[in-house]
Amino acid sequence: MLEKVVIANRGEIALRILRACHELDIKTVAVFSEADRNQKHVLLADEAVCIGPASSMESYMNIPSVISAAEVTDAVAIHPGYGFLSENADFAERVEKSGFVFIGPRSETIRLMGSKISARNVMQESGVPCVPGSDGPISDDPVEFTRMARDIGYPIIIKASGGGGGRGMRVVHSEAALRNAVSLTRSEAGAAFNDDTIYMEKYLENPRHVEIQVLADKHGNIIHLGERDCSMQRRNQKILEEAPAPHIKDKLRKKIAEQCVDACRKFGYVSAGTFEFLYENDNFYFIEMNTRVQVEHPITELITGVDIVKEQLRIAAGEKLSYKQQDIHFRGHAIECRINAEDPEKFIPCPGVINHYHPPGGPGIRVDTHVYQGYTIPPHYDSLIGKLIAHGETRELAIKRMSMALSEIVIDGIKTNIPLHRKLMNDAAFIAGGTNIHYLEKKLGLK
Ligand code: ADP
Repeated sequence: MLEKVVIANRGEIALRILRACHELDIKTVAVFSEADRNQKHVLLADEAVCIGPASSMESYMNIPSVISAAEVTDAVAIHPGYGFLSENADFAERVEKSGFVFIGPRSETIRLMGSKISARNVMQESGVPCVPGSDGPISDDPVEFTRMARDIGYPIIIKASGGGGGRGMRVVHSEAALRNAVSLTRSEAGAAFNDDTIYMEKYLENPRHVEIQVLADKHGNIIHLGERDCSMQRRNQKILEEAPAPHIKDKLRKKIAEQCVDACRKFGYVSAGTFEFLYENDNFYFIEMNTRVQVEHPITELITGVDIVKEQLRIAAGEKLSYKQQDIHFRGHAIECRINAEDPEKFIPCPGVINHYHPPGGPGIRVDTHVYQGYTIPPHYDSLIGKLIAHGETRELAIKRMSMALSEIVIDGIKTNIPLHRKLMNDAAFIAGGTNIHYLEKKLGLK
């Protein structure tokens, strides 16, 4: 097993990784910015190293600082969590070149999937269904891209190949708007992602977001852990996720999961990964692959009993997967509510001191959070402060448990989106299941 691991992240995921390391008797090194001295995992880790000022560019995103933290503490591996450097192929490469184990896929795989265009090409070659679209980047020639859009059929979506976090996308409904949209998206992509390569896809009007979790070791063993439905989104950001995805035929979910496993075999995937799809009219269309652990991984853990972070650590240590596909049995239903420190109506981040905190409990309830009473949420980072997860034998029971937990939880001093989640638990369309990616914004009156 790995002897000592640097946790190159902060917040709830850093604590999640620390807990997994502890169960495997792996020593931990927390790295933290000057704004994060009082993080729970920093206080609990075997060692802690300050890697820079509050600004994430100078700390959590600073490759030399993170690598030197591993050097000075004699760690053997680095877990990047999600966000920050987790999908940075240059980082993964430098970690390996410096003699450490990167807990994730090979850097070439990250690079391949980091470009949405090359990811699409790989998927097409590997037999994974994709959204109809341009086979490669769109050129500057208006005649050419106009023809392309006509062939695909409006509406289309123009996307930055290097985009992420729901940014760098623009929907175009008619030819009249095309030229302008292409040049705007191109210049935004260049500014935001340092890469102005763009491509186009058919814009699916009412899809759901359904994704498949896979695990692959270095010995060629690959399994899937079923799917998650992450359609409840605001500004392309997930708010609530559930597993399994409601109302999808078993035959279809099994087929797409097996196609993902086959694809992993074809392109030699290693570690935990997620294939993201849009799902419409019984069809799955690949949109991108996340080569890291995801925020919503706990719902899959609850319905399968597999600890995804521990498997990542084992895989990185060169061990074989602890499970074969036939060992994976799906049990019940799980829902995750992302708790954000933000105004529930205006969605403006709301950092500050938590002066009262009371977590919920009871059967089937899991709370993944780094916050505690008296903790100050710094203004410099993402507004996610925790995840409330409920599991039950049926979807109905999971919803009941989640609504109870949401009525028990108290976070005072700051504003959170808990009121929004409480409303959702009583929402008829959510209770019926299977709402599409536009549902939440429409309900909120944003669309
Ligand atoms: P990011 O990397 O920024 O998360 P994705 O490609 O995963 O970008 O897309 C994020 C979200 O944007 C999807 O979950 C979906 O809501 C919407 N989206 C992306 N592509 C399409 C498409 N072709 N048609 C309709 N909606 C799309």
